[in-house]
Amino acid sequence: MIKKLTAQDLKELLGELRQKFLVIAPFRVKQGRLTKVLYQPVKTNDQLSSIYFKEQPDASPKEYFLPRDDRLAEETAGADCQPEEWSDNPRLFLGVRSCDIAGIELFDDVFIENDFVDPFYQRRRENSLIIGYSCQEPADNSFCQEVGIDPLENENVPLMLYDAGEGFYLKVQDQELLKGFEILDMLQELPEAESSELEEIVTENRKNFSGDEFSLELELPFPEKEAFTSVDWEEATASCLGCGVCTFYCPTCFCFKFFWEEIEKNRAWDSCMFSLFTAHASGHNPRERQDQRWRQRLLHKFSYHPTNYQGSPGCVGCGRCVSKCPVNLDIRKVLNRVEKTLAGEGVKGNES
Ligand code: SF4
Ligand code: SF4
Repeated sequence: MIKKLTAQDLKELLGELRQKFLVIAPFRVKQGRLTKVLYQPVKTNDQLSSIYFKEQPDASPKEYFLPRDDRLAEETAGADCQPEEWSDNPRLFLGVRSCDIAGIELFDDVFIENDFVDPFYQRRRENSLIIGYSCQEPADNSFCQEVGIDPLENENVPLMLYDAGEGFYLKVQDQELLKGFEILDMLQELPEAESSELEEIVTENRKNFSGDEFSLELELPFPEKEAFTSVDWEEATASCLGCGVCTFYCPTCFCFKFFWEEIEKNRAWDSCMFSLFTAHASGHNPRERQDQRWRQRLLHKFSYHPTNYQGSPGCVGCGRCVSKCPVNLDIRKVLNRVEKTLAGEGVKGNES
């Protein structure tokens, strides 16, 4: 089922949805001298006119699933505590692009579809519904198609929003998932659209994605041993400052640390790019140099993660690590160097 909406229809629909959900959508937000596009909770219906779809958000919605700082438990209570944001109100994420949907799916694999289930992540995830957004043009430095992600269509969310300039199309992809949320009732009054109308828009927008200069030839997973030992990681990553910005903006990076604050046990984001990340209490650090940390980060995404998760890449090609790096260290160039080195050794695919 495809519905056709004017901007006003979308606003009214979201206004109705706000009565059932905490709606979280992308907005332009001033941060000092910078203006960023960030996912924020919608607090009033007036804010609905300011939802901003035109650019890839600066940050993915990962902090709503794995918060930067997360209070997990209180020692004296002796039981799991519930952070304030955990209400029974479900959350609706509006306008999530394919790369960020894939980032959330990767988190699902790691935190809930494995032997160990993270109850904090699980509860946030089960409490969330996602409306995807079809990209109209590539984000700066993105290469999602090279890691198998379609920026225009995504079947893994129940609803997908397409921007048609003057209005929108909303495609209902999974009615089962929407049951109980009354969304289908809310959509009833809206006019239906022919699938050919939508196909035309997608076909037109797809033309904008054909000029990608970067290509990833090596199959996943990268051969671990050869990549680990043959590549000159020091030369490839010499400019890295170890600031960790790339990992904090990355929708698939999930390293964390635990710490106590008086009686509270907390979890906070950490980064494999930090020198102390692997430091042992003895003083020994198995990753003493920054190039060793870079090697870990890249091989985690392109070798270890695909090995452990049926070939799925650990990178969704969003390009944020490139755009945000203060020294312009470009993961695409490092990837090409890895490919070139391995090709020189006669390695073409995952032949290890
Ligand atoms: S953002 Fe750039 S400089 Fe900072 S850790 Fe990442 S690659 Fe290194
Ligand atoms: S490694 Fe870079 S391009 Fe890949 S998902 Fe993370 S931020 Fe995006």
